[in-house]
Amino acid sequence: MPIDPTQPYDDNNVFARILRGELPSKKVYEDDFAFAFHDINPLAPVHILVIPKGPYVSWDDFSERASDEEIAGFVRAVGRIARDENLVAPGYRLLANVGANSGQEVPHLHVHLFGGRRLGPMLAR
Ligand code: AMP
Repeated sequence: MPIDPTQPYDDNNVFARILRGELPSKKVYEDDFAFAFHDINPLAPVHILVIPKGPYVSWDDFSERASDEEIAGFVRAVGRIARDENLVAPGYRLLANVGANSGQEVPHLHVHLFGGRRLGPMLAR
């Protein structure tokens, strides 16, 4: 069931629990602003989720409410992870789902980072 991105942040969502260490994850990277881990159901040879440390439901919520420092820190972390994973030369894709039309399932902003093969058309027709 897709989430409603207009609802308040739910402290008990699965990624909040991963951030608090209450649920396991395969960690890739962590700093003051971002946490990254392997997607549990990978759709490409590299499928990493990057999430902000702060409580933001979606890209919409984050872009509206996060501080400039949080936004800069998060965006820098996403770029750094892609470089650390050697994804830049072969190429990669970033994706952030927001709400029902996109099928967003977890109500904590996450950027999907896909790589490791040709990723095909941007969207199914
Ligand atoms: P979205 O549809 O954009 O909300 O993506 C949610 C993603 O979270 C999916 O790709 C799931 O496979 C992934 N996911 C859900 N639970 C976990 C978990 N516990 N650890 C890692 N990835 C997860």
